[in-house]
Amino acid sequence: MINNEKVVLIIQKIAEKIHENRQFLTDLDAAIGDGDHGINLDRGFQAVVEKLPTVKDKDIGTILKTVGMTLVSTVGGASGPLYGTAFMKAGAAMNGKMELETSDLLTIIDEAAKGIKMRGKAERGEKTMLDAIEPAYEVLRRELEKGSTLKDALDEAENAAKEGVEYTKTIIATKGRASYLGERSIGHQDPGATSSMMIFTVLKESCED
Ligand code: ADP
Ligand code: MG
Ligand code: MG
Repeated sequence: MINNEKVVLIIQKIAEKIHENRQFLTDLDAAIGDGDHGINLDRGFQAVVEKLPTVKDKDIGTILKTVGMTLVSTVGGASGPLYGTAFMKAGAAMNGKMELETSDLLTIIDEAAKGIKMRGKAERGEKTMLDAIEPAYEVLRRELEKGSTLKDALDEAENAAKEGVEYTKTIIATKGRASYLGERSIGHQDPGATSSMMIFTVLKESCED
């Protein structure tokens, strides 16, 4: 099962994934935004990695809330408050827990999506991170409800997130900086949806072993 140590490990792996892809995410943002998404997120997750030793023995709620607060105070831009709120809301729902059931994993992702929507006032179809997160959440829930293993369910969820990223190429951005481009945002994949998809990739990779 996923205990607090594993959660810390997963967060470290997310930081690594973002670090490896910081240039790619930044290039995606340069095409339809201001070219800082990878740099912003990498700075934030490196700060998170430095903070993790102070909370590694704490409950999962505390760990996730600490991640969220660190992201809010270090990432900046649109994605800092959005990802920050996502982790803080997920953490608030996991107060006191030292281990996660699969239903808790669903709650974490659901709360994260709700936090992003509350903060950013976006809905699916506006070319944002929600276009990766919401379909991934729905598929994960469907797979777990029908009795798939966590590994298979996360595999399907990652695929749904990837499809969500592909879908963002076909639509106009109506939120965030990319919305300034209007129709010219078509043909480009959303950087935030892409970083969200990478988080699902890490979840999948982390729950394979
Ligand atoms: P900024 O645009 O301030 O430079 P980033 O480049 O770090 O911030 O993040 C841009 C990403 O944030 C976008 O690709 C998009 O996925 C996401 N985003 C922007 N506005 C919103 C919003 N209102 N709701 C959800 N996601 C958003
Ligand atoms: Mg940007
Ligand atoms: Mg910016």
